[in-house]
Amino acid sequence: MAFATARSLALRGADGHVIDVQVDVSPGLVGTTIIGRVDKGLSEARDRVRMAINNDCARWPATKRVTILLAPADLPKGGTHYDLAIAVAVMAADKQHKDLTPDLLAGWAFIGELSVSGGLRPVPGVLPMVIAAAAHGITRVFVPEPQAAEAALVPGMTVFGVRSLAQVSAVLRGAEVPEAPPVVGPSASPLATWRGDDRLSDLDLTDLDGLDDVRYAVEVAAAGGHPLMLIGPRGTGKTSIAERIPTILPDLSTEQALEVTALHSVAGLLPEGSGLLRRPPWFAPHHSATAASVLGGGTGRVRPGQVSLAHHGVLFLDEFPHFRSDVIEAMRQPLESGEVTIARGEEAATYPARSLVVLAANPCPCGNFHGQSGGACECSDVQRAHYRRKLSGPILDRVDIWMEVRPQRRGRTGSWRPAPESSADVRARVADARERQARRYQDCSWQLNASCPGAAIAERWPLDPEAQRLVDAELSAGMLSRRGMTRVQRLSWTVADCAGVSRPGPREAEIALALRSDDSARSLPARVVAVTAS
Ligand SMILES: [Zn+2]
Repeated sequence: MAFATARSLALRGADGHVIDVQVDVSPGLVGTTIIGRVDKGLSEARDRVRMAINNDCARWPATKRVTILLAPADLPKGGTHYDLAIAVAVMAADKQHKDLTPDLLAGWAFIGELSVSGGLRPVPGVLPMVIAAAAHGITRVFVPEPQAAEAALVPGMTVFGVRSLAQVSAVLRGAEVPEAPPVVGPSASPLATWRGDDRLSDLDLTDLDGLDDVRYAVEVAAAGGHPLMLIGPRGTGKTSIAERIPTILPDLSTEQALEVTALHSVAGLLPEGSGLLRRPPWFAPHHSATAASVLGGGTGRVRPGQVSLAHHGVLFLDEFPHFRSDVIEAMRQPLESGEVTIARGEEAATYPARSLVVLAANPCPCGNFHGQSGGACECSDVQRAHYRRKLSGPILDRVDIWMEVRPQRRGRTGSWRPAPESSADVRARVADARERQARRYQDCSWQLNASCPGAAIAERWPLDPEAQRLVDAELSAGMLSRRGMTRVQRLSWTVADCAGVSRPGPREAEIALALRSDDSARSLPARVVAVTAS
């Protein structure tokens, strides 16, 4: 009996788990078996690996019985990245080279898909796999050469970026490496790499005139992570202001950047040689997008959707009422819990999805309704009422801020008016407000007001009694639900954090109530806007 074990990793959601690939090569009934809850893609590994070994560097044990066991057996396993671990374990178990002994595989992780000729192909999810390997005490990893930079983001890991099975075999045996030497990524600190996503860097809030109350609402949403709904006729600038929200978010912390980069790695979206994603991501799916695209799923492997790719960034759903109803329904979970679970067959993957959710809607189906007269709206009352109903309900009860975006009067941009504030100025205030929250919640599992549980507010961070009376009055008048009250309390804290106030008082509660209300007659107190615009 001949036996060898090589380590690889399985992904559940964006979390990696160490897998022992155990290979037994023995005389007996000729054939190859792979066991341990493997999917179809993985069971095809036997053919890829057999051809890769035969064509590249050795001989597949064609006259013996080969048993491949992936342990732990209860974890579902899929994907093609186990090829490399299977190949080296077969070669070591079969003693193809007398100097490639099974003990040489200890301390390594092996990640990569093999081609028929023995070449190594890139695979999705390298970063979270290497993070898990490091957490398990593994210090050396083989990955496909183009993904060496990605793997080297993990501190304390020595990365070998390789092109072929023959190179891996040579490195393990300490022999001369064919073709070129492998890239040996030094163990890097993630801070050493900087590569922001600058798709939106040419946008700035200074480009937009007016909209002072909307700017304020957007600043509060960004500071506290509050879901935001923008309602207004076509052409009022809803999209323009929404796509500038990433420009007022601070850079991601190292921990956040690793999480976001890992999610993009799982989705196979990291460009070759890419480093850590440092800027908050921005995703804006079209309203015709499928649930798989927005929430996650897909055929074959379960992939994270845009709601997870936008984690710690902004997810913008323009024309929200036009989204498919299964997408609208499914948005409840990420809005409520900051994660999304995709179940398919016996497999379920959970991905983080704590993005700033920004929804936009027209006031009516034609998009032109505004003012007392209705503007240029061509819709009937019935159509408008039906549309309005789509805008309410369980999803919109989970939206913290409702903001009317009104048409801007022209000719108000004379020289007497101060230049609009820049994104950098607002971003500095957002960073300050987030700092206050981080200090307050340092012993908690959440970082921003929008995620603070209602019970925690009641016990540890109640509003000033006079402020709470204002909120209670709305509750008993039936203008707020219980859930709505918690949202107003969270918003009050963010309004206070934005203004540098240590505890929300009546003024903060009043502003929060106005931000929460979808009643257009009850706009933000003018003084709020005046204060922030000055
Ligand atoms: Zn209309």
